[in-house]
Amino acid sequence: MNEGMHVEEIFAKNVFTLGKMKQTLPKEVYKEVKNVIDRGGELSMTAANVIAKVIKDWAIENGATHYTHWFQPLTGITAEKHDAFVTHPDEMGNMITEFSGKELIKGEPDASSFPSGGLRATFEARGYTVWDITSPVFLKEASTGKVLCIPTAFCSYTGEALDKKTPLLRSMEAVSKQSVRLLKLFGNTSVKKVTPSVGAEQEYFLVDETLYKQRPDLMFSGRTLFGAPAPKGQEMDDHYFGVIRERVGAFMKDLNEELWKLGVTAKTQHNEVAPAQHELAPIYETANIAVDHNQIVMETMKRVAIHHGMRCLLHEKPYAGVNGSGKHDNWSLTTDKGKNLLDPGLTPNENVQFLLVLACILKAVDSYAPLLRQSAADVGNDHRLGADEAPPAIISVFLGEQLEDVVKQLVETGAATSLKEGGKLETGVSTLPDTEKDATDRNRTSPFAFTGNKFEFRMVGSSDSIADPNTVLNAIVAEAFCEAADRLEGVEDFELAVHDLIKEYMTKHQRIIFNGNGYSDEWVKEAERRGLPNIKSTIEAAAVLTDDATVALFEKFGIFTRVELASREEIIYETYAKTINIEALTMIDMAGKQIIPAVVRYAKTLADTVNAMKEAGFEAETEKALLSETSKRLTRMKEALDELIRVEKEARKITDEKEKAFYYKDSVKPVMDDLRLPADELEMMVDKELWPLPTYGELMFEV
Ligand code: ADP
Ligand code: MG
Repeated sequence: MNEGMHVEEIFAKNVFTLGKMKQTLPKEVYKEVKNVIDRGGELSMTAANVIAKVIKDWAIENGATHYTHWFQPLTGITAEKHDAFVTHPDEMGNMITEFSGKELIKGEPDASSFPSGGLRATFEARGYTVWDITSPVFLKEASTGKVLCIPTAFCSYTGEALDKKTPLLRSMEAVSKQSVRLLKLFGNTSVKKVTPSVGAEQEYFLVDETLYKQRPDLMFSGRTLFGAPAPKGQEMDDHYFGVIRERVGAFMKDLNEELWKLGVTAKTQHNEVAPAQHELAPIYETANIAVDHNQIVMETMKRVAIHHGMRCLLHEKPYAGVNGSGKHDNWSLTTDKGKNLLDPGLTPNENVQFLLVLACILKAVDSYAPLLRQSAADVGNDHRLGADEAPPAIISVFLGEQLEDVVKQLVETGAATSLKEGGKLETGVSTLPDTEKDATDRNRTSPFAFTGNKFEFRMVGSSDSIADPNTVLNAIVAEAFCEAADRLEGVEDFELAVHDLIKEYMTKHQRIIFNGNGYSDEWVKEAERRGLPNIKSTIEAAAVLTDDATVALFEKFGIFTRVELASREEIIYETYAKTINIEALTMIDMAGKQIIPAVVRYAKTLADTVNAMKEAGFEAETEKALLSETSKRLTRMKEALDELIRVEKEARKITDEKEKAFYYKDSVKPVMDDLRLPADELEMMVDKELWPLPTYGELMFEV
C-alpha cells in the first residue's frame, strides 16, 4: 500500500457495490434491484439493460477490457471465460463498446469439459451461467488486464445444478423460510428473511518459489510425496502467533490491500502452528458472498505469493508430520432486523427461543452427522480427518460448560433454573484490571463448536470450497426447524409444547455433545459406544449423498434432486481416483528419475571407497556397513516402485468409478507408503550434495 493510503479509500474500490448502484442507477431501477436482492424474483429485461450499461461504463472507466461470468463448477474452484467488450467497428472504423442486459444475466460457456458426473450425458450438453444478483460484480486485476467478473450460477439446459452456488442459494432460501416460521411461533411476525452468516478462517502455507520448483510433488500434487522430517518441527510452539517474518509480512500487506480492493474484509492475520503456516480471517457476511469471497481469498493468496517469489500451498497436508491446514467455517443465522438467532443473551437458560434453536441444531447435527462429515471431505482432507490430526472424523458438538449444564438440567428436570457464571478473571497483578471471564473456555479439538453466538465447523479442508458445508448446514437446520414448526404451529398450550419439544430433542440427541479432548483415543472409543459414526475417508463418506434420508431431505426443500446428488457422488469417486493417480505417477517419476539415481551414485562412491580402502590395506567395515544399509533400502525402493507401476496399470483398467476409487485407496495408496518409507530413510543417509530435492527444513524454514 502506498504511504498514506487509507483502508476506507481503497475498500471495495474494485467492486460495483450496492452503494455504487444506488448512486448511478435511476431510482426505479435501483428499487427493482434492491427488491430482487431482498425478496427474490426476476429482474425485468429493461432494468437489466440499464444496469448492464452502468456496470460497463464503470468497468471501462476503471480500465476493464473484458468481462466474464465467474462461476464455481464442481471442480471446487472458480471458472471464467473472458470476452472483450469489443464489437464490430462502424464504417468509420470507430468502435462503440456494448454490453447488454442479456449478456449480464445469462451466458453459455462451452461447458463440456467441466465435471458433471454424467449429468450432461443424460441430459443436454449445454450449460448456462446465470447472474447471482445478490453477489456484487467486481474487477479482477491480473496479468491479462482488468476483467469484470460477474458472479453466476451454472446450470444445465434442463436446470440441474452443475455448480456449488446454485444449491447453496436454494439452501439459503430453505433455512430462511423455516426460520421465519419458527420466529412466528414466538410472536415475531415482522421478520421476513433470515440469512446464514458465514466467516471462513483460511489457513495456508508459504514456500519459496525456487525451492518449490525443485519439487515435482509440490508442483503436481500440491503436497510433498517424499521428505524426511526436519530436525525442528513445531514442537517448540514458537511459530504460533509468533512475530511475522519480513517477507511474509510484505506478502500479507499486499494480500490485504488486494482483498480490500475486492471488498473482502480481511481482518485478522497470524502465524499458525506449523512453521511457514499462516491464517487469514475476514469478517463474516452473507453465506453466498462469504463463499465467493473465500474463493477470491484463495485465488488472491496464490497470485500475490508469486509476486513475492513464493508459492501459496492450500493443500490440507503439504508436509507429513506437521500440522495440516483447514478452514474454520463460522456459521450463524441473522434476521433482516439484524438479530442473531444463535445469540443466547445473558440468561440462555430462560431464553426459550434460543433453547429451541439450539435443540434443533443438536438434532440436525446428530441426525445428519454423516452428511455433515461428507460435506467437509476431500482427498487432501483425508490426511487430517481421522488421521493423527485434528479434528477427528467423528462429528460431535462442543457447547461449553455453561450450555452443557443448561442442557443437562433440561434433560434431567425439565427446567434449567440455574446458570453457571463466568466470573472474574483474576490476574493476580494489581496493575492489570480484572476482567469478566467468558462463561466457557475454548475447545480447539471439537469439529463443531459453539463459540458464543455462532457455531464453528472446523472440519473443512483448506483447499475446499465452503459452499458444500454451508449448503448442508442450512439444509439440516431448515429440516429441524421445519419439523419443530410443524409440531408447534396451532398447539393449544405453546409454552408447554415448546418446553416438551426442547426436552425431547435434547434428551434424544445429547449423545452428540462432547466437551472433552476430541483428539484422544478414549474419545474414539467413547464415540463408538455412543453409536456416533466415524467415517475415515472421502470415498467412504460419499455414499451418504444418495442414501434415502439425504435424498428426502434435499428434495423436500428443492436443494438437490436425486439425479444431482448421484452426479456429485460420481464426481467424488472420479476426482479421488484422478488425484491419487497423479500422486502415484509423480512418485514413480521422482523415485525413478531423481531419487534412485542419486542413491545409486552415492552407493557407487561408497563402493569405490570400500575398494580403495581395501587396496590401502583396510577392512573398510564401516564403509561396507553403510553401503549395505543403503543398498538394502535401495532394493526396497526398487521393489515398491515396480509394485507401484504395476498397481497403477491395474487401476487404469477399472472402468467403474467407485470401484476404481476404492482400488486407489486400498491397493495403490499403501504401495505409495511403501515407496516413501525407504526413500525418507535414505534421505537421512545419503550425501546432501547428491540428494536431488530440497529438504523439509529448507522448504519450511527458508521463507
Ligand atoms: P478464532 O481463530 O478464535 O476462531 P477469528 O477471529 O480468527 O477467531 O475468526 C472468527 C471468524 O468468525 C471470523 O471470520 C468472524 O468474522 C466470524 N464470526 C464472528 N461472529 C460471527 C457470527 N455471528 N456468525 C458467523 N461468523 C462469525
Ligand atoms: Mg477458529
